[in-house]
Order: sequence, then C-alpha cells, then structure tokens
Amino acid sequence: MTFKSHMDAALTEARAAADRGEVPVGAVLIGPDGEIVARAGNRTREMNDPTAHAEVLAIREACAALGSERLTGHDLYVTLEPCPMCAAAISFARIRRLYYAASDPKSGGVAQGARIFAHPQCHHAPEVYDGIAAPEAEDLLKAFFNARRG
Ligand SMILES: [Zn+2]
Repeated sequence: MTFKSHMDAALTEARAAADRGEVPVGAVLIGPDGEIVARAGNRTREMNDPTAHAEVLAIREACAALGSERLTGHDLYVTLEPCPMCAAAISFARIRRLYYAASDPKSGGVAQGARIFAHPQCHHAPEVYDGIAAPEAEDLLKAFFNARRG
C-alpha cells in the first residue's frame, strides 16, 4: 500500500480553528482501512475546556463512533507536536502511528519537554513521524499569534 498523507485534512481543521479564534491546531484520525474516522480542531475557548485540544477531541469522536476505548490500528495526523496531555491520551488510545507537522519547543511533549513516549511508565508508544507539512503548519500558527499581538 502506498503512503498517503492526511496532513492536508488536518491543516484544514487548523484553519477552521483559527477562524473560530482558537489556536490553529487540527487533527484527523485514520482508521485501519485508510479512511478518516474523526476530524477536529482546538475548541478550548468555545467549550471553556482546557482539555479540548484537537487530538483529544478527535480521539473522543473516534472512540465514540467505534464504541471502544482503544483505537488499535489507527493513525493520528496533527499539525503541531502534541503536548504531554495529548501524548498521554494517544498512548492510552493505543494509536499505531503519530504524524505531526510543526514541532513545539514551548509546549510539546513528544520530542522535547516531558517526552511522554520515552518514559518508562508509558505502556504504549506509537511510531512517530514528524515534520510533515511543517512550514504550512508553522505559518498558520505565526499568522494567528502575530494577529493577536497586533
Ligand atoms: Zn494537547
């Protein structure tokens, strides 16, 4: 099977989040058959919920649709390196592969900071692929934060 990136769909969710005044991060979950089973963008402000990150919302949606607390064989695409909370949720959900775009030196918890998947207490670590469409994701974040500062 040839590799098909779903990062474009995650970027679409990130742009929609920016339009809602949320930090532009988007995520999509791909089922074992290669189809998108959930898509989400950040909604922390709209929902008054600090845990309403794109990854968490996508995982909740996919688990509800599947009727399972585990997403074995599923792959997650997200436009920004997951924070420690989301990395832990990805581990709990038993997600197979994690693809992310921009790295997050400030709040990331995968390649830096807490490095959740490298921790001895982490019982499941996905395969991690970073840097996919990173420039696009970084431009979105920069534009969002520049506009808020201006
Ligand atoms: Zn997060």
